[in-house]
Amino acid sequence: MGRRRFLSIYLCALAAVFTLFTLAPAQAAPPGVVPTELCVRTNETAENPYALIAAPAAFDCKRGQVGLTGRYTWGFVTGLSLVTNTQDPWELRHEYSQADTEAVFVRYADGRIVQAPSDRMTSRRLFSPGMVSFALPGDKGTITSVLIRAEGLRNQRGIAPGIEFKTERAALDGDLVVLLLYGILAGIIGVLLVYNIALYAILRYQFILAYCLSAVTMLGIGLSWSGGIFLILPNLNTTDQISLTLFGTVAMLGTAVFFLHSFIEERYRPRLALRMTFAAALVGLVACCIRLIDSRFAWEVMDRVTYLSMTAMLTGLLVCGFIAWRKGSGAAKIYLVAWSIPLLLGIARSIWAMGLIGGVSTIVAMSPLIFIAIEALMSALAVSWRVGRLRTERDEARAMQAQLQQMADTDALTGLLNRGAFIRGATGPRIRTPRERLLVIDVDEFKRINDRHGHQAGDDVLVAVAAAIRATAPPGTQIGRLGGEEFSLLVPAEPVDALPERLCRAVEAAVTPAGHSVTISVGVADGQIVDDVSWRLVYYAADQALYRSKNGGRNRVSHAPRSIAA
Ligand code: GH3
Ligand code: MG
Ligand code: MG
Repeated sequence: MGRRRFLSIYLCALAAVFTLFTLAPAQAAPPGVVPTELCVRTNETAENPYALIAAPAAFDCKRGQVGLTGRYTWGFVTGLSLVTNTQDPWELRHEYSQADTEAVFVRYADGRIVQAPSDRMTSRRLFSPGMVSFALPGDKGTITSVLIRAEGLRNQRGIAPGIEFKTERAALDGDLVVLLLYGILAGIIGVLLVYNIALYAILRYQFILAYCLSAVTMLGIGLSWSGGIFLILPNLNTTDQISLTLFGTVAMLGTAVFFLHSFIEERYRPRLALRMTFAAALVGLVACCIRLIDSRFAWEVMDRVTYLSMTAMLTGLLVCGFIAWRKGSGAAKIYLVAWSIPLLLGIARSIWAMGLIGGVSTIVAMSPLIFIAIEALMSALAVSWRVGRLRTERDEARAMQAQLQQMADTDALTGLLNRGAFIRGATGPRIRTPRERLLVIDVDEFKRINDRHGHQAGDDVLVAVAAAIRATAPPGTQIGRLGGEEFSLLVPAEPVDALPERLCRAVEAAVTPAGHSVTISVGVADGQIVDDVSWRLVYYAADQALYRSKNGGRNRVSHAPRSIAA
């Protein structure tokens, strides 16, 4: 894909994501759901809720519920007409807010006022995916007003953001869809995690380890965010649950930085940008740890720092991908294709969580879930892609290594094995016959060729000698040029044949293009070559025999008197 085309497709996708966010319509309430606006009141001293709920005039209905400060913060809804039914009672639900305690009071048409149970067990709902819910007592009459009291509220998004009244049945319908999503998500990530752990155990690539860590943090977020964590820690309060979820999210983004680092080819890594992104992760983790230790300590700062670090990390991941892509990294291109949309979703979600963009669309609220699911799947595909790339690189490296090894083993002039390769071949692991024969060949009066006709003529003679030896020796024979005008062959000792003599004849008959020909003297020794020591003994014996051939008048074969045992 051309760079331009890739860029234009990418920009279209980008535009689509942002359009989705800006145009996502606020959804019409399904039956059994009453969306609501809050009237508010704040005070430093405790007031009597039973008196307040009967006095609607005490509340401000224009101000909106965000940003109120005060020891006690009150949210009031009046003008309701929720007909209670014990078979299908009403619930008050809102998105998470962070307060020390929260209480709900209900006023009926007959003037009776009752406090709703607020502990998680009595309010029945163990899992409240992303929501706080209160079961409204409903055995008598119609509910007309509801009062919420939050003590020690850290008010960033309101007293009861996204407040609505739902019948239990309608709530359950919605929850089941969300829980189904969680189940599918956890199933997918769980399977991918197990698979990638196995893959890591076999392949040991760092980016697979990073993927596994990432998947673990994803499961952690799912467990905390879905409310599943209350199964393990029933006494955990909502504020700490939020802190845990945030901690998990920052940790997941931290592992995403680690993943990107190990995913991009080493030579294309944008080190500085990666380091800065990782620093953002550390800052976020510190803020989350402080939240977990003391949720009230500089909570506004901690909250801001956490979301800012998330936004910085998400942006940093994109920027790192872009830099590496510009440098020419293929892995970064895959990364951008796979992750830019989830990353943008994540950025939008973080900004939304900071309250910088308005509107509560389901797409924005659920985007981390979508983000995680897409990322888990895409990462797994990217992991296999990267493994494929590494396999190709490995195959190429092996081919290159084989080529280099062959070059290192070959004598450039004659194409025979060089001295080192010949000796390694003789002493190294191979199939051996019980007795072997080493032939050492030296060209007779070779210096004369050099002296009379020049070194080029000498070289041509060496090439012709090598060709004659190769053509005469049985196929597969190990033949080497030990140095200068000295050659060597390793053959089985049995059956005894006239190979040395045939070599003498063949070389004698060979003529270079310039018309030069030479003879050779041969020394033969039998024995077993299994290591360096036995090689030296057999070579020495063959060399001695060669001397006898030289002294005996050249162009002849001499044998060592006895076989050398290993
Ligand atoms: P002998 O019959 O006693 O073996 O006599 P010789 O002349 O062959 O022996 P000597 O060892 O005196 O000479 C070997 C010569 O081989 C000397 C050296 O210059 C030449 N030589 C060694 N390597 C090469 C090479 O790669 N190319 C050429 N052209 N000559 C080489
Ligand atoms: Mg010589
Ligand atoms: Mg010689």
